[in-house]
Amino acid sequence: MNIAVLSCKNIKDETCLGCQRCLMAFDKKEGEFERYKDTDAKLRALLHCGGCPGTSPIVRLVNLKAWMGLTKETIDAIHIGTCLLDNCPYKDTIISKVKAKAGVEVIEGSHPYRPANIFGA
Ligand code: SF4
Repeated sequence: MNIAVLSCKNIKDETCLGCQRCLMAFDKKEGEFERYKDTDAKLRALLHCGGCPGTSPIVRLVNLKAWMGLTKETIDAIHIGTCLLDNCPYKDTIISKVKAKAGVEVIEGSHPYRPANIFGA
């Protein structure tokens, strides 16, 4: 089973460096990746929305499918990244478009590593 994460272009590898939180959560099967415990699920793609105002998530998913065709693989489930879910003012439109077009399960959320607070212990 192959997984993709759709993330926020403004955040991906900018303030969320290297997509490290999604990669770690997937390896540890934490957050919304817990469902893949005891499966052979693989994280195959971390792609962004195309930029504000959610310009091209669908086109980019279509392009990802074509890109993966060379290796004869596809995506079986798409996670809406925690970055997009928590911060995007256009998320409702993006999520409904992806759900309408993906043809595979769309799960809202990815890693669980949100800071509890800023200055507290
Ligand atoms: S549309 Fe949303 S997810 Fe995409 S870059 Fe802008 S704020 Fe981020």
